[in-house]
Amino acid sequence: MSHIVCFDIGGTFIKYGVFDPKGNLLVKSKMATPTSHEIPDVLNNKVKLLQQDFHISAIGISSCGLVDREKGVILFSNNIKGYSGMKLGEILFSKTQIPVSVENDVKSACLGEMWQGAVKGKRNAVFLTLGTGIGSSIVMDGRIVNGSSGLAGELGHTVIVAGGKPCSCGRKGCLERYASTSAFVQDYKEQKGVAVEDVSGETIMKLVKQGDPVALLVYEQFIHYISMGLTNVIHLLNPEKIIIGGGITEGEGPLLQDINIQLRKEVMDVYGNEDTVIASSLGNDAGLYGACYLALNRMNMKESV
Ligand SMILES: [Zn+2]
Repeated sequence: MSHIVCFDIGGTFIKYGVFDPKGNLLVKSKMATPTSHEIPDVLNNKVKLLQQDFHISAIGISSCGLVDREKGVILFSNNIKGYSGMKLGEILFSKTQIPVSVENDVKSACLGEMWQGAVKGKRNAVFLTLGTGIGSSIVMDGRIVNGSSGLAGELGHTVIVAGGKPCSCGRKGCLERYASTSAFVQDYKEQKGVAVEDVSGETIMKLVKQGDPVALLVYEQFIHYISMGLTNVIHLLNPEKIIIGGGITEGEGPLLQDINIQLRKEVMDVYGNEDTVIASSLGNDAGLYGACYLALNRMNMKESV
């Protein structure tokens, strides 16, 4: 039986796993992300090691940064120094002689959720990750929307506050300055007015649950802004579901439910009354599943979702 080895390359860790051709994840693990110029060798060594136990016939890569999927090139990454411009697909193929597919991590995670996860069988969905910024990917009629140069779906850089906070993209008032996890943490720190160390989205969510007044205030603003952004998405794209991932959504808590309640107030009634926002079901493995899906597709071992 042939197997597919998949890597999910992030700024801190590289997760990896081996799948069978039916998409069952057989083994998985992770390793620290090395410096950019070491990445191809580290991946090659891992493939060689896995070849002792598996017959590897394809490699799928889900990577942070902007990716040219056709050429397997990392166009831009601000997470890993020196990674921008790397012809990762070509370099890894030259070392392994195994076909390599490369795709952006948010798009991969979205495909994973379409193939085996929270929106399996759905044709229209939007996938969002809340973190330092907001990553997003759009699926319409069962296909990822790429746009003319692969850059469609930058929901984080749509303006929701005219003349608002300055954003890394050069504009003011972008959604990710108000509704990313880092914006949530920043707002909490500003509202607290004193130096707060070691605070994360998850710890603020715990304070919300405990009824902490500052955390609750910041949380209400956060729900307001993210719902405003998502209402725009719903009115524009009419997705069946919107999956929201990222550490802040993983713990127990009312976040997704509160967003759904707010959306019911903002979205036009004609769009229906069902909960649109749902949690990821593959969690941190979604990128690996998507990478496997693309690798299988590239080899014509799997028809489209
Ligand atoms: Zn922006």
